[in-house]
Amino acid sequence: MPKPNKSSVRESRPIKNEHEREEFGPGKEGLVICPVCKAVYYKKSWHHGTVHFEGRENTPVKFELCPADQMIKNKQYEGKIIVRNVPKELEAEMISLIKNAGDQAYERDAMHRLISIDKVAGELVALTTENELAASIAKKIGDAHNKAKVKIAYKAEPSDVCLAVVEF
Ligand SMILES: [Zn+2]
Repeated sequence: MPKPNKSSVRESRPIKNEHEREEFGPGKEGLVICPVCKAVYYKKSWHHGTVHFEGRENTPVKFELCPADQMIKNKQYEGKIIVRNVPKELEAEMISLIKNAGDQAYERDAMHRLISIDKVAGELVALTTENELAASIAKKIGDAHNKAKVKIAYKAEPSDVCLAVVEF
């Protein structure tokens, strides 16, 4: 199975390169705030909007959609999970498992989100802003249910979209 293409650095991941950080001298760093989710961009990555502004009163601020909200606005996604033939009695459990996994991912990284979960022609279809999130949700379902077969495929071009299919 081909590995996802990791050559492009994701903005949501902190960059640990000291040299890059030096570009922003003290007082030179601006903040970008997402008007939708209030995430804040600083030190080259997006953070939950819980940053403390004390001492930053003179920092230039601009408002711009974060990559996750931009993706949602453009109706794009990086991960898609399709759950087929879910037994009726497991449906509610599936939905809450997917939602919980989305919440946990968002807590860890403000850019990793469950975008939506819908029932389409008897299948559960969930979209995520991050491809590995789709894969990990599908694996969680597989781990919880022996009968569920999990197939994960990455579409390398044009962007690393992950399609994770779970079949009961
Ligand atoms: Zn946002």
